[in-house]
Amino acid sequence: MNIQVSSTSGQGGAPTGPGSDIATKIALAMRAMGVAGLPRNYEIFYEVFAGTNPDLNAELGTLGNRPRQEDLDRLSIKYFVQASNQVFVEGIRDQIAGKVEEVMVLFEKERVQLERYGSILNQTSDGLRQRNLVTQEILQRISTIMSAATDSKIEQGKQFVTSIADKSAELEEVKTKLEEYKKLADTDPLTQLYNRRAFDKVMACVYDDRKKVMYTSLVIVDIDRFKQINDRFGHPVGDKIIQRVAGIVQSAVPDEVFVARTGGEEFAIIIEETTEEAAHDLAETVRKTVEKLAATSNGTGLSSGSITVSAGICMAAHADSADDLYVKADRALYVSKANGRNRCTRFSELPDMKSAKGWRIYSRD
Ligand code: GH3
Ligand code: MG
Ligand code: MG
Repeated sequence: MNIQVSSTSGQGGAPTGPGSDIATKIALAMRAMGVAGLPRNYEIFYEVFAGTNPDLNAELGTLGNRPRQEDLDRLSIKYFVQASNQVFVEGIRDQIAGKVEEVMVLFEKERVQLERYGSILNQTSDGLRQRNLVTQEILQRISTIMSAATDSKIEQGKQFVTSIADKSAELEEVKTKLEEYKKLADTDPLTQLYNRRAFDKVMACVYDDRKKVMYTSLVIVDIDRFKQINDRFGHPVGDKIIQRVAGIVQSAVPDEVFVARTGGEEFAIIIEETTEEAAHDLAETVRKTVEKLAATSNGTGLSSGSITVSAGICMAAHADSADDLYVKADRALYVSKANGRNRCTRFSELPDMKSAKGWRIYSRD
């Protein structure tokens, strides 16, 4: 297995090298290994490059340099809830196609029936035009034909409305299933926060809009010395603490603010229509709330005073792209760590990063 994972940081594994383009690296690695450019394959390689799932990395390694699609699919189903739902999505797509087809058939039937009704009306009016003398008997016959055709059309119309209503209800059901799926695909199963995929999508939109670039801030929050917590209390307790901190972060920010779990013990907050000052205040609120609440949490098995987070803040206007914004907020986070943790740092406070190459100097114990 020749995959280079060097483009990732130890912090939840996001790409950090300036200008790093994880997408290009993934595409190149996939091509080199003869892997088809399918979204589900991309997903595997994304995770491998992000470095957040060592088991997946190891298992992909066992597939050799030219992995077979069926083996990759097995990994997808095992590791990604979204991929196992691919079959589900394909089923839904077929169902939608089927329903649309049924609606089309209904409309076609309605068109034919309307044409037939129209032709009866035409024939009747032609008949009337051709006769100089319209007798009582003719009027009687016309009235009978018209009334039968109209009654039948009304009945067909009612059936049509019922059939269309049935189809709409079925389509609505399918739509609900699709929305549930979409939510699942964007949700982190451990914390129920948004996941990295959802985060990437929201970040990609920031730079589509000049106003958003001016007034959007990214805050990256990372649990301090989490490895020690895991080592001391075990992985399951570590998971509970991640859940607990996730809940605290979510409740500490306004409802409309986007919060995601972007890596193991790392969260990202995207705040729109904000200033750097306000984003910093929000990050401080999160930090203080975790400091106060996480330690008193039930169910974590931790004694008090042991859970804190650090944060890095960067305004979108101080970066050139979504990747660059993430890198800069991450740098600010590292400075929070270097300065003792349990603190928030803004990227704009830092000395010129271009000349400060050795910024990642704090201890990673
Ligand atoms: P720092 O203060 O510098 O952030 O130190 P740290 O120990 O928190 O940072 P580091 O990145 O070295 O360690 C993060 C640890 O989080 C390592 C990894 O085993 C653990 N981790 C990642 N994902 C999960 C998870 O889903 N559950 C649990 N329990 N641990 C996880
Ligand atoms: Mg981390
Ligand atoms: Mg950490």
